[in-house]
Amino acid sequence: MKKLLTLIAVLLSISATAKSIDYSKLAQHPRLILKKGDIEVVKQKIEEDQPLLILHDIIERRTNEFLAAEPTKYRMVGKRLLGRCRAVLERVCFCSYMYLISGDEVYARRAEKEMLAAVDFVSWNPSHFLDVGEMVTALAIGYDWLYDWLSPESRRKIEDAIIEKGLRTSGKKRWWSKTHNNWNQVCNGGLVMGALAVYERIPEEAQNIIAEALKNNPIAQKEYGPDGVYPEGFGYWEYGTWYEVMLIESLRTALNTSCDLEKAPGFLESAKFMNFMSTPTGAVFNFSDTGNPMNAINPLLYWFALETGNMSLVWQDRERLLNEDVVRGVNRQAPIAMLFASRCNIKDIKPIKEKVWAGDGTQPVFLYRKGFASSQDSYLGVKGGSPKNSHAHMDGGSFVYEWGGVRWAVDLGSQDYHSLESKGIGIWKKGQNSQRWQVYRLNNYSHNTLTINNRLHKYEGMATITKLHDKKKFKGADFDLSSLFPDTESVTRRILIDKNDKVTCVDRIESRNIDCAVRWNMTTFAEAKIIDKRTILLKQDGKELLLRVVSPSNAEPYIMENNSKNWYDVKNKGVRVGFTTTVAPYSSATIKIELTPQK
Ligand SMILES: [Zn+2]
Repeated sequence: MKKLLTLIAVLLSISATAKSIDYSKLAQHPRLILKKGDIEVVKQKIEEDQPLLILHDIIERRTNEFLAAEPTKYRMVGKRLLGRCRAVLERVCFCSYMYLISGDEVYARRAEKEMLAAVDFVSWNPSHFLDVGEMVTALAIGYDWLYDWLSPESRRKIEDAIIEKGLRTSGKKRWWSKTHNNWNQVCNGGLVMGALAVYERIPEEAQNIIAEALKNNPIAQKEYGPDGVYPEGFGYWEYGTWYEVMLIESLRTALNTSCDLEKAPGFLESAKFMNFMSTPTGAVFNFSDTGNPMNAINPLLYWFALETGNMSLVWQDRERLLNEDVVRGVNRQAPIAMLFASRCNIKDIKPIKEKVWAGDGTQPVFLYRKGFASSQDSYLGVKGGSPKNSHAHMDGGSFVYEWGGVRWAVDLGSQDYHSLESKGIGIWKKGQNSQRWQVYRLNNYSHNTLTINNRLHKYEGMATITKLHDKKKFKGADFDLSSLFPDTESVTRRILIDKNDKVTCVDRIESRNIDCAVRWNMTTFAEAKIIDKRTILLKQDGKELLLRVVSPSNAEPYIMENNSKNWYDVKNKGVRVGFTTTVAPYSSATIKIELTPQK
């Protein structure tokens, strides 16, 4: 009965959302994200705010490089046109922004040239619909922001392409519209922006597209709940969340409503999650299919700062812009972030005070960051979750650990999709026997967790957080890993970091009717040496860390190469280190490991 009432409530809220839109109030162009007066404020803010000026300068330099380049050409890579669509979005967004800021028509002409080249693409590749989502976004923004400048003829060509190569290729299945992941956000977000841009040409179709997107988008938003963890990890948060924010802001500027999308549980909190997912050494906790960008800036956080009033969320990015000489690549929507940043009241920003952030949901995490101001600070990130999650690895219980400017416990991150797909490896098939789990970087053998009887983790398993520890002397979490292992009765992991940065990991294993050969593994890029039966010494960048097994007494240390024999796996640097032990049938064992910085 309760379920039925919830369903009715959800259905009522959906129809209320769709009905609450008054299309007679549709704003004139520009109507996508850009508000009247925004550009004047940006110009003023870059005069007075150094980090914003630096970000603007990066955008300007990059845009000037585009001026000399040929427009993006149609080229498929495997099944994707995605890289090309992203390039078009970046160029159109950057050039349109620079035109609005400078008034120099050279930028408008370059954006138009890029759009007309994309109009002539034979298709935008609807069989991989993310590509269409990004391309529609590119042309919707360029068309809308440059509406007054474009000739009626160019406008018509761009409108036709948005409609015929974009909106109308979404087909009947539209499976992506209902997914729990970034596809939902990117495709629905892109289509809504396209529909709003060309609304006057196809009002009824546009309304249907928007209604369907608003009905289905909450399925993806649910993944942020209850606390703000984005299950697909750091890289995909940025990807999916950019589109979520563009969707919300486009609705606001075009139709004066956000349809309350920003109120989804955990959505606004996910900005703090991202602050804690970046680490003192400048890296990120790169679980799931994520690269490992160094000193990445994440200017989308300005939107969250604006929305929550918590300017601490952008403290780290601003420091990075002020203190690092590297001109880094910025995200293709960076000019949009300039609009959000300019709307913020930025003064006297302090870094985040808390040391711990933890979140539950489909991807529970415990994240500890000693501070935000020093690269020498310690960091511990531990994850639960299930291999079933989108883009997940077999890594329940895995952790990354930093101290003294070194990442000692490493996650290797994802392997380039095309490098596997082009070799016929089916990394997207679900299930225990998917080829995905034969890929070294994706299975438990390479992660900082337990492997028992040399078997893969269970695909259906799910590691949960059962307790958080937040004492003055130590902080950490208890995980129940039982459902990940086919051969054991129960497996738990307690992992704590103390005020001296020492990590203690206590795993308790209860066996069933067979012997369990247990491997406690950690991947590291440090130089490793077994110095006695209980101790491995790790050295990197002039720092030392002792990895020591306290119990059981029969544990054996090991150092192994950090590669597999599979011909399709990339080569990795570093080694795997740890300890092995055997648990007899119907008994239990406690493996206690300490990671002690040598200060
Ligand atoms: Zn991983």
